[in-house]
Amino acid sequence: MQKLNNYIDGKICPPNNGQYLDVYNPSNGLVYTQVADSSTEDLEIAVMSAKKAFPIWSSMSVDERHRILIRIADLIESKHDFLAEAESKDNGKPLWLAKRVDIARAADNMRFFANASTQFASESHSMKGAINYTLRSPLGVVGTISPWNLPLYLFTWKIAPALATGNVVIAKPSEVTPLTAYLFSEICIEAGLPAGVLNVLHGNGANIGAAISKHSDIKAISFTGSTKVGKIIAVEAASNFKKSSLEMGGKNANIIFGDCDYDKTLKMTLNSSFSNQGQICLCGSRIYVQEDIYDRFKKDFVAAASKWKVGNPLDSDIKVGAMVSKPHMEKVLEHIKLAKEEGGQILLGGERIYPEGLKEGYYIGPTIIEGLGNDCRTNQEEIFGPVVSIMPFKNEAEVINLANDSNYGLSCTIWTSNLQKAHRVAKEVDAGLIWVNTWLKRDLRTPFGGVKQSGMGREGGFEAMRFFTEPKNVCIQYE
Ligand code: NAD
Repeated sequence: MQKLNNYIDGKICPPNNGQYLDVYNPSNGLVYTQVADSSTEDLEIAVMSAKKAFPIWSSMSVDERHRILIRIADLIESKHDFLAEAESKDNGKPLWLAKRVDIARAADNMRFFANASTQFASESHSMKGAINYTLRSPLGVVGTISPWNLPLYLFTWKIAPALATGNVVIAKPSEVTPLTAYLFSEICIEAGLPAGVLNVLHGNGANIGAAISKHSDIKAISFTGSTKVGKIIAVEAASNFKKSSLEMGGKNANIIFGDCDYDKTLKMTLNSSFSNQGQICLCGSRIYVQEDIYDRFKKDFVAAASKWKVGNPLDSDIKVGAMVSKPHMEKVLEHIKLAKEEGGQILLGGERIYPEGLKEGYYIGPTIIEGLGNDCRTNQEEIFGPVVSIMPFKNEAEVINLANDSNYGLSCTIWTSNLQKAHRVAKEVDAGLIWVNTWLKRDLRTPFGGVKQSGMGREGGFEAMRFFTEPKNVCIQYE
């Protein structure tokens, strides 16, 4: 069994303490490999290597850095199917989804930010007798911490803008799904990324993740994960005056008006509810349906969701694969139990599924709950599984209040054929991302992030590049 080791100073190397964590294949519940459980000793070596690499990488021309990052994107593309199989095995997601979304978008991230670096410019402000211009310099050594739900996609989403702007990176992928980040290290070696520019440290979040967010030589932390861990990182970063960008949990509203394009709304609501087993931070988990179509929509939604086949992630006809881990599956099942205790009626699903030949795997089918008020825990806490709550509403004002009655504010989807109403509701809902008559359509140039307990700061496009650079104003008097 090949172990998944760290990538430090341009080399794949075992952790100093010799400690490893088991890595499971969620489709069958079996340990398939082990991953390095790094310690602060590994971190010190990685930071030293990154500091040595910083003057080399940051002083390269934009063109030279661009060439290397594009080479990495090309290599991801050339290994597309192999990486997709790895992602599916590690995470439990359907193989077709890993191919279509995770790996394709990981290559897009590298290519997009490499190209964006050739267009990234700073401002100039002219005044009477003087001109100001702003220099935007890389920060130095920066840390990125990413989750398990879209492993390579979110790993590259962070490191690409950091590297493209001339920073050197200490990256910590999730210990639950470390495989593609490990394979990415091999790609960096093949692409000729100079030693120390990217260091990948694997291991337990509470140990090595916390050590990265505390380290005084690491100037910024870009984190995607739960609100609980985001809060810890926010405190660490603030007490060390570190820049931080936090992308956290969500409890997204999906607002369906009676005048929507019914068939399209139904089809897309299935996707926004259950794609990736509901383990996408942007999934809509609170579905508000206007009362004139509520009964019809509920019936059709349950019927359509019941056709979503659950099973082996490698089968091309399944829609729902395995939950990422046993603890996460158990957490989601606990939430379903709670929903019943709160008075919810389970219209579909609600139980663990044991597919033939994969009885030890972690499966839960699409689960639809009805009959709960907005303020119960089921409708307030992030579940992060294939579980949605469906509720009727009367009018625009009421549904805006319901949507905003949440500590979270990541995204919201609105379905209506009335453009004025779409604009009004989009403006009033407290969320960082609004989709109207679509879901998950992404343009990498747009700001990405949430409000309230869903996020602090924005990623995407030049927003991410501004985060990873420090502006310095130079004022020159010429009169
Ligand atoms: P998590 O917070 O448990 O872990 C995320 C990362 O943080 C992992 O790499 C983990 O090892 C690390 N970590 C854990 N404890 C740490 C600590 N004390 N200090 C530093 N790092 C630590 O999240 P998860 O369970 O991996 O992912 C699911 C969560 O991510 C959900 O809440 C989901 O909404 C959120 N998410 C948000 C977005 C977004 O863009 N807003 C995108 C994807 C996922």
